[in-house]
Amino acid sequence: MADVHDKKTRSYNMSRIRGKDTAPEMIVRKFLFSKGIRYRLHQKKLPGKPDLVSKKYNTVVFVNGCFWHGHEGCRYFVIPKTRTEWWKNKISSTVTKDKENYRRLKKMGWQVLIVWECSLRGEKRNMTLENLFQKFTNG
Ligand SMILES: [Zn+2]
Repeated sequence: MADVHDKKTRSYNMSRIRGKDTAPEMIVRKFLFSKGIRYRLHQKKLPGKPDLVSKKYNTVVFVNGCFWHGHEGCRYFVIPKTRTEWWKNKISSTVTKDKENYRRLKKMGWQVLIVWECSLRGEKRNMTLENLFQKFTNG
């Protein structure tokens, strides 16, 4: 079966199959913890089960995989050339659900922060984490 993804991108995507304690999420957790921010994980009662929840800062964080959550304009979001329609539907329904969850959370008074996985890669990582921390403390 032909696949447009090069090997690197594909294995990256495959490693992003949604699960708890994925590496990008761990990066965010460790960083915030080191900054003294305490949080709970995967609060089932909240819409979309946010990855991190900080009551003190009234903030929830989602660490989103670029492929599964359809990161617009991102090099890691490439719809496969096989079963294209199926993938499009799958990802667009995830994006729709995400938006609905964010909307509901905001309505409940939460600050909703999204961290895209690509922004944790390489040189961008430090800036992404610093920005995240800023939003926590200013939010
Ligand atoms: Zn991305």
